[in-house]
Amino acid sequence: MARCVVVAIDGPAGAGKSTIARAVARRLGYVYIDTGAMYRAVALWALRNGIAPDDSHKLDELARHAKIEFTAGASTVVLNGEDVTAAIREPEVSDAASKASALPGVRRAMVDAQREMATGSSVVMEGRDIGTVVFPDAAVKIFLDANPDVRATRRVEELRGKGMEVGAETVAQEMADRDRRDRTRTEAPLVQAPDAIYVDTTGLTIEEVEEAVLKVIRGRVSNGKDVVR
Ligand code: C5P
Repeated sequence: MARCVVVAIDGPAGAGKSTIARAVARRLGYVYIDTGAMYRAVALWALRNGIAPDDSHKLDELARHAKIEFTAGASTVVLNGEDVTAAIREPEVSDAASKASALPGVRRAMVDAQREMATGSSVVMEGRDIGTVVFPDAAVKIFLDANPDVRATRRVEELRGKGMEVGAETVAQEMADRDRRDRTRTEAPLVQAPDAIYVDTTGLTIEEVEEAVLKVIRGRVSNGKDVVR
């Protein structure tokens, strides 16, 4: 019987994690889980209720009660029954998510939910701490990175592609602030797991990165479908 595989993809904002994780999951028939969307959903809920994203007491409470679901291959994110796919991509939510995600109670609630989501199916899970904290024994760990200018440009194009009016400098600054917070926080900071494969996506096409990542996975997993976590 095929056993469940976890492919952990971590890295900073704009490195291409979502695009690659989604594509690789599709190719392998695994479930795709975007953990950043979960922190964003909690942050959105807080913002809507006028709760500051660093109010640990209230945020812990929200994180424990948030019902976050992914539908249609994770192209839709549902919070407490409402489709929040577009709302969680607003720059204000990115900033709040990065603040809320530094809170230990919020992280505990999200990590529990993420482990639960991976029960019984093979998954490609992307985030900041998947290979270090959520699944330290994942079969495959990838750390995706790219030069900061390239990452900022990709994020601007992505947001403009969704119809948002954003300034390139503002986006670059917001990403730099977020990355600094993610890398320097005490709880589960963004760091490459010692056994993760580093993939620099600067100058590579999406197809090239996808092939590089699939090659790593196939090298670790006997037939790309059947392996121990
Ligand atoms: O991946 P994305 O940019 O959507 O994530 C939004 C924010 O959520 C990140 O800047 C980070 O602060 C937080 N996050 C995290 N741990 C994860 C995924 C995301 O702290 N596993």
